[in-house]
Amino acid sequence: MLNKLFPVLNLRLLIVLLAFSAALATLISSFHSTYQVQKEQLISHTLKSNFAYANKLASATDDFLESAKQQLAYSANKIEQNINNAALLQEEVTRLNLQTNSFNSVVISKDGVINATSPYLPEIIGKSISSPGATQALKEKKPLISMPYMSAANNLIIFISHPLFNKEGSYLGYVGGSLYLKERNILNDLLEQHFYEGGSHLYVVDANKQILYHPDSERIGTSVANNKVINAVITGEAGQAVVVNSKGVKMLAGFSPVINSNWGVVAQRPIKATLASLDTLIMEVFARTLPMALATFILIGVFSYFISRPLKQLASSANRLDEVNSIEKLKRIKAWYFESQRLKLAMLNGVNILQTQIGQLKHDAQTDPLTNTHNRRSLNGLLSQLMLKQTPFAILEIDIDFFKRVNDTFGHDKGDEALKVLADIIKKISRKGDIVSRIGGEEFLLVLPHEDSQSALKIAERLRTTVETTQMETIGFITVSIGVATWPTHSNNIDQVYKCADKALYHAKEHGRNRCVVAEPS
Ligand code: GH3
Ligand code: MG
Ligand code: MG
Repeated sequence: MLNKLFPVLNLRLLIVLLAFSAALATLISSFHSTYQVQKEQLISHTLKSNFAYANKLASATDDFLESAKQQLAYSANKIEQNINNAALLQEEVTRLNLQTNSFNSVVISKDGVINATSPYLPEIIGKSISSPGATQALKEKKPLISMPYMSAANNLIIFISHPLFNKEGSYLGYVGGSLYLKERNILNDLLEQHFYEGGSHLYVVDANKQILYHPDSERIGTSVANNKVINAVITGEAGQAVVVNSKGVKMLAGFSPVINSNWGVVAQRPIKATLASLDTLIMEVFARTLPMALATFILIGVFSYFISRPLKQLASSANRLDEVNSIEKLKRIKAWYFESQRLKLAMLNGVNILQTQIGQLKHDAQTDPLTNTHNRRSLNGLLSQLMLKQTPFAILEIDIDFFKRVNDTFGHDKGDEALKVLADIIKKISRKGDIVSRIGGEEFLLVLPHEDSQSALKIAERLRTTVETTQMETIGFITVSIGVATWPTHSNNIDQVYKCADKALYHAKEHGRNRCVVAEPS
């Protein structure tokens, strides 16, 4: 089943897949955790630095407002002592406006009407003004920073004022400076130092959630509802938060209140811009990791090749154990690690045992057990080979004379002994390449390749006389008769050659036994 599903799976592929997926998983998880850790650090770092920046600007704004209040207080003291010196009053508003650069315009109000202005505006001298800042100053008679409001000339303004009293403590009026929030002034200059990049920016709100300062000047004067950072900062809280702004952009914000004016300063940066650098960073890490990762993958490929090779070779060897030089091929396999070595040894042992047993069986199937000569089946095979190769040969058909008598006289066992001795004599007479075979009870066949009738007869004679003169234990002497025939001289048909040899043997028996006879040409 599995085999059908994954027909190409092999050890090497499995190793590669395993190692590759392990390496890939490690790589991905390390990228992922690097990304996560960096992301958290970046967010936390941005939140902290935005908070620090909001804090710094809030306190700088506070310092600026404090110093503006002090400048007015200092001037108020001077004005109170010279309240009737019109030239001095004008000089003082001019100095406050031009020298300090804290205000866009400065006025002195005396007895409810404007007494001096800078810049000089003769059309309002001697008139009362009813702007919220002026009204509040007249009403409260104390140092004030007004809520921001729109002026008659459509300027968003805050009005900072200090009351004027004479020596007796009667209220005289006030000296006050306006800051036009949309125009250039020291407050804007202060806030504009912020480094704007990738949507990073700073804004200031008043206690009514109205924007007083914003890099997008269109937004100055508008109000923001439902912003948790603004809600927090106008209650005097300082801190940091992740917030979604009015445009739906997720921001990392730091915020801090301006105590003097109940304002709030918010420094924020879109989370997307903050994390943009992370993508570049990860790509850079990836680019630097790539060569090593590639090298690892190549190593995996190479290792898997060397690990799987012995097993692959052993497996293909196992398929071809019946081949001639299978043992040699098996021995040549480089089994360089434990399991492959064990497998190789086991296979070698198996093949050895198998081949020994096959060899034994083959030997048994081809051998006569009593005389250890070729049996008839083996003889037929060998003769077929000779004939196939067109090798001429002679056959000697050897039969013991009066063997029945030997059995009768000395017993069957002694007869068997005699058969073994005769087989040994035939083997001794035969040369390399000759075939000795027992083809019947007491009949043997000696095949002599390349011999003709005459030379075969000589060998037959030598055999006959050797038998005749060999004394055997208990039995004494026996003799043999031998019929000689040749292939292909007597016949091209082996059966006919046998018949010729039979006839010659019969002739030898008929003519007194213990003799050799060459068959008649057929
Ligand atoms: P001849 O000279 O005519 O050949 O006389 P013979 O007695 O040898 O006659 P034949 O060849 O016909 O008889 C073969 C005898 O060989 C018969 C049997 O008693 C004996 N014989 C056959 N096979 C064996 C064997 O395996 N062992 C023993 N001991 N004797 C065998
Ligand atoms: Mg016989
Ligand atoms: Mg016989």
